[in-house]
Amino acid sequence: MAVLLLNASLQPLNVISHRRLVVLLSKERVAFLDESAEHATAEALAGRRLPDGVVIVRLLRTIQVPRRLLRPNRRNLLLRDDHTCQYCGLVGAASELTVDHVVPVSRGGAPDKWENVVIACKRCNWRKANHRPDEVGLHLRREPRPLTQEYAHIIFLRYPDLKEAYDRLLATAA
Ligand SMILES: [Zn+2]
Repeated sequence: MAVLLLNASLQPLNVISHRRLVVLLSKERVAFLDESAEHATAEALAGRRLPDGVVIVRLLRTIQVPRRLLRPNRRNLLLRDDHTCQYCGLVGAASELTVDHVVPVSRGGAPDKWENVVIACKRCNWRKANHRPDEVGLHLRREPRPLTQEYAHIIFLRYPDLKEAYDRLLATAA
């Protein structure tokens, strides 16, 4: 169960722990979006239980959000490439997938540039070995690009439940 923290403007900021939620509430830095959610959460926390469902709170004052530089690490690449081998299209569990350098590092490819790393299944990775894709008849399904720096996008890729709750919230606010 996750707590989604929104900026005062309702822009999603982060997913926080229950402990952090209790601290923010005690400092009166955040508010609930409606009274029923507030009651349910207060009751649960008082009984040292976790509230049911998704909890959404918003900051009372707007904060400036720092631009985040996302790194093309394995976790972020799995998100960008939807757990899909970029050569054959196999969708797999993280354990079945590897990170492949399109142009091998040993042949001058950049080791840590979004444009040169993709998710590949073990089979394609093995077949490709120390080659460029075209040398072994492999083709990228789409051009690798940096993952968007819009942080909400990342939050919602990781927590689909929160996306649903947030969309409902925006629908009722409209
Ligand atoms: Zn593959």
